[in-house]
Formats: sequence, structure tokens, C-alpha cells
Amino acid sequence: MKFEELSEYFQKLEATTKRLEMFDILSEVFSRADRRDIAKTVYLMQEELLPPFFDIQLGMADRMVEKAISDAHNVDLETVKAYSKKVGDLGEAAEKYDHRKEKSELSVSEVYDRIFELSKISGSGSVEGKITSLAKLLKEVSPLSSRYIIRFVMGKLRLGVGEATIMEALSKAKTGKREFKASLERAYNLCSDLGYVAEVFYDKGEEGIRKFEVRVMRPIRPALAERLPSAEDIIKKLGRCAVDQKLDGFRAQVHKDGEKVKIFSRNLEDITHFMPEIVAAVKKLKHRRMIFDGEALTYDEDTNTLYPFQITIQRKRKHNIEEVSENFPLRLFVFDMMLLDDLDLMNEPYVKRREMVDETFAEDSTICKNKEIVTDSVKEFTKFFEETVGAGLEGVVAKKLDSPYSAGARNFDWIKMKRSYKSQLSDTVDIVILGYFKGRGMRANFGIGAVLGGVYNKNRDEFETLTKVGSGFSEEQFRELRKMLDEISTEKKPARVNSIMEPDVWVMPRYVITVKADEITRSPIHTCGQENGVGYALRFPRAVSFLRSDKDAGDVNTTHEIIEMFKGQKNVKLKA
Ligand code: ATP
Repeated sequence: MKFEELSEYFQKLEATTKRLEMFDILSEVFSRADRRDIAKTVYLMQEELLPPFFDIQLGMADRMVEKAISDAHNVDLETVKAYSKKVGDLGEAAEKYDHRKEKSELSVSEVYDRIFELSKISGSGSVEGKITSLAKLLKEVSPLSSRYIIRFVMGKLRLGVGEATIMEALSKAKTGKREFKASLERAYNLCSDLGYVAEVFYDKGEEGIRKFEVRVMRPIRPALAERLPSAEDIIKKLGRCAVDQKLDGFRAQVHKDGEKVKIFSRNLEDITHFMPEIVAAVKKLKHRRMIFDGEALTYDEDTNTLYPFQITIQRKRKHNIEEVSENFPLRLFVFDMMLLDDLDLMNEPYVKRREMVDETFAEDSTICKNKEIVTDSVKEFTKFFEETVGAGLEGVVAKKLDSPYSAGARNFDWIKMKRSYKSQLSDTVDIVILGYFKGRGMRANFGIGAVLGGVYNKNRDEFETLTKVGSGFSEEQFRELRKMLDEISTEKKPARVNSIMEPDVWVMPRYVITVKADEITRSPIHTCGQENGVGYALRFPRAVSFLRSDKDAGDVNTTHEIIEMFKGQKNVKLKA
């Protein structure tokens, strides 16, 4: 497919916020796309060059893009700057000064490759090199394509297409039905690379996707836990089950292939370089190929205790990692094993996987097995929970003994119970910021007084509003928030956002914050779970985390979970 044609589809996508219309447009794109272009088309739709774990940075600052537009079309740099400032979009500026009449013959792959090349230009002279390459590309395409190339390069394509919709449309395009989406989703959960899944689908058809297996060095989307408030509820649900200590550190998925080691975070970023001591310990393990799952925490060897999460998280912000790892070494507590040499353990029952963990790891080394018991007794469960919490840990995660590793799923195969649970709402809620309201009074200084937050409706693949949050942020955080949100602001309500409220500024659903509230109430002004004009809302919400860098928009709580929490409240009011 020519990039010009894809740009026309982008224009159509931009004009709609309705998921069904997006689905139809995507189905048409994918039924017309050929094998050569399919992965790259999917990446462009996802607004990334490659999935996050490849860690590719384009490194194009505003001023470089302005210069490229100015060079490409012989327009004065100040004119470009002034116009883009006026319309708030460099893409539109690129379009305005591009007077090319004839369409470009460049294919989607060719344009993608040319953009990709920009990421490889490094060293001295790289700024000029990138500007020249981008200007050259702009000269070869029509105004509409210029618009989308520039927006993509700036990370501001903002089509708002969801992964679920992409998979459904791929299914429709290739099989004529939507139902094959479930198999595509399974494959995606195993490798976290939707472009690659699409390519296998186009190459090897349904059979290729059904046979899809995990691969070392390709992160598996992590299994997640549901929640229940008591040992009774959990034993009732699972019967005899494993009960693990729940540690509060970094989720770390470790891959080993001979001497090569990679570690991935909860949201699939490559965090290998943060954990040199873990990498060294993994290299010493005798197994050739491994994938295992665990939680990494800072460990005080002198007192044999864990440091609080605040110490562990510091590591992400430090540059002198080697020194930090000397003073505050990490320990990795392994709780699952997905691959061991030639054994793919994904579909093996939990007990078998856990057996592998127990056989492979000791109790007190840099990589150790996480502590757990197996029980069907509420009394024993409660005792273990109390001991764990008494030791300062967060709580427990119960595991269903015969369950497979549910990649990318939050279900009752794993159930968490935290020390804070008195009722279900004593847990916090993760929301995604959808927009902000300008402040009044004191807050007018920051230009932001509250954010509009939403949760994810899985069935509809859209974000629904749950609450407006204006407290819990410091002045400095408000200022920073405003800056970050302005970077991703949109003129109209973004696609896949369902809202009755109109914030002063809409933003792309990207940043996640954790909030605490007194209770969940029914409300006509929020769209979360709305039926017959009544939805759900938070009462007295306040932010308890600034931005959750380990979570993406798709990781926030779901509408279904909010409704479950509402049902679980049983009129118990919570303390702050
Ligand atoms: P929370 O904020 O409660 O940790 P979350 O959304 O990050 O929630 P959940 O699926 O709710 O993640 O809880 C599972 C998380 O708990 C895992 O992502 C992992 O980081 C952590 N964890 C700690 N110990 C364990 C364990 N033994 N088994 C599974 N997960 C564990």
C-alpha cells in the first residue's frame, strides 16, 4: 500500500470518535495491506516504531522538526514556528507549506523505514543529519502525508486506535469474522508485539497463530491478579490453593538465553540496565534458556530485611546504578516459571511451574524463591496473611493450583488480598487522565485545578469517566502535570473516550494516577458503567501517587472492577 493511501485512512480515522467506524476503516486497511507492509502498518497505528521493549528513540525535538519543514519547503524558520504555535500542531505546519501536487509513490514500508533510519543517526552531527533526512522525506510526499509523518515523528499522531480494535479488524480482514480476535490476542499476550503477530497471521494464517508459542527475549504480557477481601472468600473460590507473600517492588520478568539476559518491567520496558546484580546472578544459573517472573526489591543484607518501596523505586531515577546496586542491592523473589530449557510451561498447572521454581532457586540468594504455603484452611491462610503483614509486607496473592500462566489477563487464577482491605474499596483505584480543568483562585496560577479521570471498559474498548480529582497533588506536581498534559492535549474529545463532562482541555489517555476515595457512589454525571442515565463515581477522591510510570492507559482499573468494588462496599465507610 502507498503511504499516501494510508494517510487518507488516517484522515478518516481522525474524523471519527466512534469505535465501530474505526473498526470498519481498519478492516478495510488490513484487507488491502500486503504482507510486506502489515507489521509496519500496525506499528504506525499503535503510534510506535517498535514495541517499548526495543527501546527505540527517534530523538526529534520541536526545533529540529521546524528546521526540517523550513528546509524542505524553503520557508523562513520563524514563519514555520509562528504558524505551528498558532495552530498548536507541527503536522499542520508541515502540511501548509508543502505545495506538492502529485502523489508520492512511496509505500508504507518505505516511509516507515525512512523514519526508522532517523533513530539510527547518532554521534556528532546527528542533529543536522536527522534534519536533512527528514527534510528530504518531506519533499517527496504530499501535504496530507507530511501532516501524518510529522505527527508520528513527534509522537502526536493521536488516532486513538485501541489494540483490541486492531486485533478485531485484523481478524475480520483475514477470516471474514471477528471471532479470531481471541486467538490473535493469545498470540499477542505471548510476545507483546502486535506487528509481529500480524505478520505471522499474514504469512501462516490461522494455523500459524494457533501454534504460536513463547519465545525467549520476547516479553510475555504479565499475568495479573483479581482481588477478594477475605481468606474465606478466597478459599471458597479456589479451594486448596497456594498462598504467596505479596511483595511491593518492581515486577521483573527475566529472560535468559545462554549468556544473554534481559529483564522486562510490568509494562514491558527493558529494565535490564537497572539491575546489574540480578543480571550477574542470572548468568550463573545452570539452565541455558529460561523465562521466569518475580518481584525485585531492595534488600538490607546486614539486617536481613527489605527496604521500603521508596528506596527500591529510587533506582529508576539514578544514573550511578553500579554504586546504588552496591549500597542498596536488589533481591529478586521468583514466583513463577514460564519456560525452562526446552519446556514451555505456559499451559502447565501452577503447581508444576512452582515445583520448577522450588527446584531451581534457593531461599536466600540474590535470586530466591518467594515464600508460599499451600492450604485449604481459612485458619492457616489467615495466620500466614497476618504473619506476612506483620513483617511489613503488602499482603498475599493466592494462586489456583491447576491454572495455566494467564498471560495478559486479570482473572481469579491469582487473587490478591492486601493489608489495607477492610472492604474492597479500601484498595486504591488506578485511573487514566482524560483532561484537565483550569484552576480557580490559587490554582489559577498553575493553570490546572483538577483532572478528569477514567477507567477502561473492556467490552466497549473505551474509557469512561469516573471522577474529577483536584486534591493530593503538591504545587510542584500541579505545575509538572500541566506541562506534561499540554504536550498531549487534543482539540476535541479523543477517540474512545465516553464522557458527559467537558474538561477545559482534553488529553490523550496516557498518564495513570492512583487515587483513594471514601466510597463509590452512583452518579448521573459520570459514564463509568452507566445504565439508564446512572453511572458510578468516586466520593472525595485524592491522588496518592503522582504518575504511575509502570502502568499504561490500558492497565487502569476496569468498569467491571469498579462495579464489583461498589457491590463489595457493604456500606463500610473508609478512613483516609
Ligand atoms: P497493585 O498496585 O495492587 O500491586 P497491580 O495492578 O500493580 O496492583 P496486580 O495484578 O493487582 O498488580 O497485583 C499483582 C502484582 O503484585 C504483580 O504485578 C506483582 O508486581 C506483585 N506481586 C508481588 N508478589 C507477588 C506474587 N507472589 N505473585 C504475583 N504477583 C506478585
